[in-house]
Formats: sequence, structure tokens, C-alpha cells
Amino acid sequence: MEDCQLLIDGNWRGGSKGRYLDVLDPVNEEVLYRAAAAESDDIEEALLSSERALEEWSCVPAWSRAAKLDEIANLFSKYEGEMGELAAREVGKPLAEAQGEVGLCADQFRWYAGEIRRLSGARVPSRMGGHFETSYEPVGVVAALTPWNFPSLLVARKVAPALAAGCPVIVSPSELTPKSGAMIVKVCEEAGLPKGLVQFLSGRPEEVSAPLLASPIVRKISFTGSTTVGRLLMRESARTLKRLTLELGGHAPVVVDNTVDVEKAANLCAKGKFRNSGQVCVSPSRFYVHDDVYDEFLSRFVSYAKGLKLGGPMEESSGMGPMASEKRRDAMEELVEKTLSEGGKLECGGRRPPDMNRGYFFEPTVFTELSDDATIMNEEPFGPVAPVVRFGDREDVLQRANQTSFGLAGFVLSSDMNFVNYFKRGLEVGMVGVNTLSVGSTVEAPFGGVNDSGFGEEGGHMALYGYLSNRTYHVTEL
Ligand code: NAD
Repeated sequence: MEDCQLLIDGNWRGGSKGRYLDVLDPVNEEVLYRAAAAESDDIEEALLSSERALEEWSCVPAWSRAAKLDEIANLFSKYEGEMGELAAREVGKPLAEAQGEVGLCADQFRWYAGEIRRLSGARVPSRMGGHFETSYEPVGVVAALTPWNFPSLLVARKVAPALAAGCPVIVSPSELTPKSGAMIVKVCEEAGLPKGLVQFLSGRPEEVSAPLLASPIVRKISFTGSTTVGRLLMRESARTLKRLTLELGGHAPVVVDNTVDVEKAANLCAKGKFRNSGQVCVSPSRFYVHDDVYDEFLSRFVSYAKGLKLGGPMEESSGMGPMASEKRRDAMEELVEKTLSEGGKLECGGRRPPDMNRGYFFEPTVFTELSDDATIMNEEPFGPVAPVVRFGDREDVLQRANQTSFGLAGFVLSSDMNFVNYFKRGLEVGMVGVNTLSVGSTVEAPFGGVNDSGFGEEGGHMALYGYLSNRTYHVTEL
């Protein structure tokens, strides 16, 4: 594949020192392509260009911005095939999963085109005479720092509301999947945007983010990634008091009661758990199953896991791809070792597949007989390792479900509405799935967490406000 370049001030080019980073294919560990590494002078140039773009774009009327977003949305159909294949190869996920992700990108632009057309300020009577007017203004230059697990959608999710609000965006993608991010930027550019409005800086995320965090030009950081990095970004952006949207890790509990169709519930849970090799922030990752249905649930869950065929993204029979990186695969090995040393019982998996000696493959893994303080019950696995434990009492299991400091998603499977309502109210999370393991990766649903899972929403009408600030006018007569 061709090298991935930077986009700075309207020019696709390499970095000023000509450095490139290898991007590896997780299926065979070979170089897939190289990505240009942005240097500090490249980043400085991008910052100055985005400042100029802000002046121009923030004066463009909302309806004209919306028309541009609609144009971008329409352009996606031309690239969706290429983008799906690219994301599949970068992450290693089955092609159909990657195509599903890419298919959601155009929606982001269409939705925020609609939202910005509807946005209006207010007129408020003043006790001092005259009236107040409020208006929404673009927050300023945005840095979008995006991860590797959904390398197209998570870029589109940040770029679309930012552009709608009138903000320039600098995209800094994960070093594992930069080209998918570059494709989103390319589609935007093809619609004919002002120079510097959307720019792209690949490289090591810590090297790219440092000058962006330090610069007073960047007024907002939107980050999706781990809680550890989210904390670092918050600390570093405090000096210039930037606005933040942080979509961080999670450790989603699933409570399965004894009124469910066990076969359906077990298949739904296993399918949800092993999607994207478990590398999803809202992945169902702790299964609390009622005593009455536990044995059947476990046996069906394990047989689903054992039946999943591992393979590369282009193999039609592949049910699960490799982990995205060596680091993630090693993290799974460590987690398995730790869980065994803490007394967990391994029901299946727990190792690299013996017949695959290349690529970052790891078998779908199920653990049982875990205490509440086992590491895996408290630390996000972010991989295909599933703990399944029992419960008998709903008060007790609610407490256990809420025992981590994460608060992204939680799920309840039950046909008893009282049981469902108890968990809808009681789970300390930003999103609850009732009889589903999907919580809004489509644009109409606000998506975000509480506590250590971050703050601010992506998606829905609310995400737009993250890119806007209020201005109040007091208008009277002399
Ligand atoms: P990591 O903590 O090393 O990196 C997480 C993400 O942050 C990556 O995309 C990385 O490129 C980026 N990053 C790292 N240092 C950065 C910096 N200084 N500035 C800007 N960006 C930086 O972990 P990892 O092994 O790549 O991923 C696993 C962890 O990341 C999991 O625990 C999971 O919570 C989290 N994660 C979450 C999501 C999500 O959708 N919320 C996506 C990917 C990763």
C-alpha cells in the first residue's frame, strides 16, 4: 500500500524530517504501509493554518456549512468499499464488521448538517430593561485524538460535529491505523473546504499531542482511548484551560436474570463479547448470570466461543480476527496468567492458537469461579477474555456490577420489567442496554460515560454543544 501522508495547510506531504513509521498487518506482522511522522515544525504550521481557517469558516453561515457537510456525506458512497477493506486490514477485524463501521460515517455528516440548521439562540427579557440575546459560537480549533479500534467511525464522529459548529479540526490518529483516519480527511477535502479546516497529523500520538496540548490555539480536545491517557491529556491541557470530551475505557457488566430465553441470551452475550476481538469500549465484559440459568448459559456461551473460527479479515469463514497489536495480545496473555494465579477456572481458550504462528491471534477465552476482587472483574480486559459468574440476589448483584470506577455501559437481560427498571435506575453508567448489547454507536444516540469512563457526549444532538460556546448580549436603548 502507498505511504500515508500528512495534510497540512492544504498539502498532502511527508514530515519535515522525512521520517516514516511502519504500520503492521496484525494478521501476519508484515509491514502494511508506512505513515509519515509529523515533527514539531509541521505541527506549528498546521496550528497557524487552522487559526486562519477558523477566521474564514466561523463566518460561513450555518446553512452553507450544513450544505458542505451534506456534500461530504454524499461523497462517502464512492469510497466505502476501499475504506471498509482498509479498516479491516489495519485492525484485522472481519471485513463485514469493518464495512458496517464505515457505513456509519456518512450518517455523522448528514446528522450534524441537520442539527446545525436547527440550532438557535434565545431572547430573554432583562429586569434591567431591554433584553438578553444568546448565540452559539464555535469553540475554536479542535484536536481530535482518535484510537485504533474503530479507525474511521471515531474520526468521523469528531470531525462532523466540529465542522458543523464552525470549528477547524486537526486529526491525530492512532499510530496503528492512520490511513483510515486519512481517508475521512480526504473525503472532507474532496468536498472543497477552506485550506487548513481539516488537517491530518500522523506520527507517534504522544509526540503529536504534546504541542497540540501546549498550544493556546487549540481550544478543545476530543479524545477516545484509555483512562490513563485521558488523565494525562486533562492534566496537560489544564495550562491552557481547553474544553474536553473524553470517551475512555469501560468494564461493562451484563446482568442476566432467570426470565430470559437462555439460548438467545447466551448467544447474544458471546457474540457481543467477541465482536472486534473484544476491543470495544462498551464491550460486555463481566457476565453476572442468575443461579437458575447459570449452567445452561455457561455451556452455550463456551460452545459459542469454541466454535468461533479465527482468521484474517478477508476469510469469509472468520468469526474473529487477531488482536490489533502485539501489545494487546501480550496484555491478554498477562491477564490470563494473573486470572489463573488468582484461582479462576479456565473454561476455554487462554492462549495463542497453536496452529497459527504469525499474527496477534488469541483464542476466545472464558473464565469462571472468580471472586469479586479478581483483577479481571475490576480491570478492563479490552480483549476476548470473558469472566462469567453467578448471582442469586438482585441487590447484591447491583452492588457487584457497580464495583469498578468505570461508568461507560451496562446491560440487563430480563423479561421482568421490575427487574429491568431496578437496573436501569441503579447501574452507575452513561448508557444502559435493555435486552440488547448495543448502546448507540449510530449517530442519533448520545454516547458517553461517567466516572473514570470520561465525560461529554459523542453522537446525538448533545455532541454539537461540545464544540460550541455561548455568547450573551445585553441589548438596551440609550
Ligand atoms: P493506550 O493507553 O496505550 O492507548 C490508548 C489510545 O491512546 C491509543 O489510540 C493511543 O494511540 C492513544 N495515545 C496514547 N498515548 C497518547 C498520548 N500521549 N497522546 C494522545 N494519544 C495517545 O492503550 P492501548 O493498548 O492502545 O489500548 C488499550 C486501552 O485503550 C484499553 O484499556 C481501552 O480502554 C483503551 N481504548 C479505548 C477505546 C475506546 O473506544 N474508548 C479505544 C481504544 C483504546
